[in-house]
Amino acid sequence: MIAHTRASLRYYAFETFAELRHGVFTRLGGMSQAHLHSLNLGGNVGDEEGAVAENYRRLFASLDLQVERACSVWQVHSKDCIVVDQPAEGRHWIARADGMVTAHPNTPLVMRFADCTPLFFYDPIQRVIGIAHAGWRGTVQGIGGQMIRLMVETYGCVPHQIRAAIGPSIGPDHYQVGDEVVEAVRAHFGTLEGLVSYDAWDYSAYLNLWAANELDLRRSGVNHVEVAGICTACHTDEFYSHRAEQGKTGRFAGVISL
Ligand SMILES: [Zn+2]
Repeated sequence: MIAHTRASLRYYAFETFAELRHGVFTRLGGMSQAHLHSLNLGGNVGDEEGAVAENYRRLFASLDLQVERACSVWQVHSKDCIVVDQPAEGRHWIARADGMVTAHPNTPLVMRFADCTPLFFYDPIQRVIGIAHAGWRGTVQGIGGQMIRLMVETYGCVPHQIRAAIGPSIGPDHYQVGDEVVEAVRAHFGTLEGLVSYDAWDYSAYLNLWAANELDLRRSGVNHVEVAGICTACHTDEFYSHRAEQGKTGRFAGVISL
C-alpha cells in the first residue's frame, strides 16, 4: 500500500486500485479525544456524535467524495453481502450485513474496522466495486467467496478478472485464538496449513486472517490479491486495535468509490 497525506489526514491506498478513489484511513487527523484519538468513525464506541460526523466530513473531503452519498451497513460478523444502489435516506446504514457491492458511480462504500480484515474488490471490465468486513467469523463463513458470488450473479463478473485486496488488520503475530476458532477454520478450509500456527513455548494457536482470506478468494477464482501485510496491533499509532487496546478503542474506515 502507498501512504498519502491530505490536509491533516493520512491514509493508505492499494496499487491495485490506483484508478479508483479509495483508502484505508489511519486514526490521524480527526476530532475525537482521549483513547479514541482521533479519526474515529465508530458510532457506538462512546464518542461524541459531533466528532464522528466531522471525522466523516474530513475523510470524504480528502477523497473529493460526497459524504451524503456514503453507503454503509450495520456490521454484524455475518457472511451476508448486499447490492447497493444508493444511500438509505434518513439513516446511516442500509442493512445488517458485512459486505456491499455496487456498479453505481459516486456511491462511496464505507465500512469500519479495528482488527477485523477489510476486503476490497474491483472488476475493471464490468466496473463493479465492493468492500467487506471479515473478522474470524466472517472469514470461516467464507465472506470473500460470498462477495465474488454476488458480483458474478448480479453483474456477470468473471472471477479471474476481479481484483481483490486485503487491508490492515490484526496480523498472525498477534491474533491468538481459541480451539473453537481453530476448529471453524479446519471445517471451512479443510486444512490448517499456512492458516494457523502454534507458539513454540505454550502451543497457543495464532490465526493468519490475511492468508485465510487470500485462500478463500483464490479458491473462488480470483487471481489478483494484494495483501497490505500491516498489523493493526503492531501499529496502534496509526490504527485502532480492539485486541491491543483491550476493547477501549475506536474504528478506522475503509472507503471505495467508482
Ligand atoms: Zn502484530
